[in-house]
Amino acid sequence: MPNSSEEDSVGEETVSQSSSAAVSKTLLELQGNTSHSSVEADAQDADSVPQDAAAAVNLDSGAEGGTCSPVSSSKLERENLGMTSTGFTADIEGPDRDPPQECAVCLDFLKDVCKTSCNHYFCRDCIKRSISFPPPHSTTACPYCRAPTSLYTVTDVSSGLPLKASDVDSIFGLTFIQAGEVGVASYHFDALENSYISYASCPPAWKLGDGSQPAARKPFTNTHYAAETRTFTGEIDWSPTTFGGDAQWQYTMVFDHGFNAIVQGHVVAVAPDGSSSKRSLFGKGLFYRRHRKTIFGSVFLQALSPFAVQAEKGVASYHFESPDHCYISYTRAPNAWHLDDGSRPPLEKPFENCFFDGGNVFRGTVHWRGPSFGGARRWEYEMIFAPNFECIAEGQLSVFKDDSDQPAQVLKFGEDVFYCIDYDIPKRG
Ligand SMILES: [Zn+2]
Ligand SMILES: [Zn+2]
Repeated sequence: MPNSSEEDSVGEETVSQSSSAAVSKTLLELQGNTSHSSVEADAQDADSVPQDAAAAVNLDSGAEGGTCSPVSSSKLERENLGMTSTGFTADIEGPDRDPPQECAVCLDFLKDVCKTSCNHYFCRDCIKRSISFPPPHSTTACPYCRAPTSLYTVTDVSSGLPLKASDVDSIFGLTFIQAGEVGVASYHFDALENSYISYASCPPAWKLGDGSQPAARKPFTNTHYAAETRTFTGEIDWSPTTFGGDAQWQYTMVFDHGFNAIVQGHVVAVAPDGSSSKRSLFGKGLFYRRHRKTIFGSVFLQALSPFAVQAEKGVASYHFESPDHCYISYTRAPNAWHLDDGSRPPLEKPFENCFFDGGNVFRGTVHWRGPSFGGARRWEYEMIFAPNFECIAEGQLSVFKDDSDQPAQVLKFGEDVFYCIDYDIPKRG
């Protein structure tokens, strides 16, 4: 947690500017950041990896990068260098040892101790900052030993629970799409024995070797699913005809911990003569992500930019539980956030007069009938969601300071304010 006096002064300024949207750049940076060096490292990373980061949350195309290691390595290397140069030695050999006192990232006393699966210990904020990347990237390396690590495999020592848990346990019941459309070579995993590629909406130009169109449902055969590695294998057999000159496609798909995307794997194309003719790589040229049908059931988190790590849930996150229950959560609001009478923001602030058009537009109003918030009496929202309901792509937040119809300020989603889905929804209960 931030603890400097600098935070308070900056925070107040922020509240007056954009508490409605929620958070300003400065406040987000302050969350959990106790050292300037880490802020700078984040900024450098953001500058150095525009392509990958942009791909992860591209508002328009929804194209998605599946590998995160290129993003993280330079920063992690810097952090590793920093650690070794200061003589950090608390390398834990086994799970039964007591945790060390010192965090390998901030080099300060451990706070809210978390443990990686490689048995290294970090402050909760430090490890989250070190291994969080724009969604759906979810696997990176331990800041100390570089072992594969993700928020799903880091546990909070006091509770024993992982920092993130997926909302689903497997691929079954899910659909994965390429560019926002079901039926254009979308993958459907209804069950292991009922998994198929849908060509129901494919372009008329897609023709098999015999001149016919691909079937609306082309089943995977020889299917296998390894839950431990989240890996699906299966075959698509076009014989006796061909598709794109291929007689068969052999798939290996590796899903991320949250089942948000296919992040690794490949397709081997087999020619009619039996030779393997080419490979397409998931996460590199072949991008599939989970299909989402609505905003309800989802949480949207704010970020500084489309490329940035998202804020925590509870930092003015938007929760769309049902058409009748949508709210802004302030459960983790920064200490500097106060209503204008000095009180803390409510934990749940409901959207009123909610309207969802069944397509991609949500409207709602937040009233500050008691004390105002940053001078505002009313926030009016129009959110226009990107095709797969992963980001708020357009729309605006209008801030009203009195009862007039003239907003004092208008913030545009996708330009001034960035919200994307929380890919990692912890299970209830
Ligand atoms: Zn730390
Ligand atoms: Zn480690």
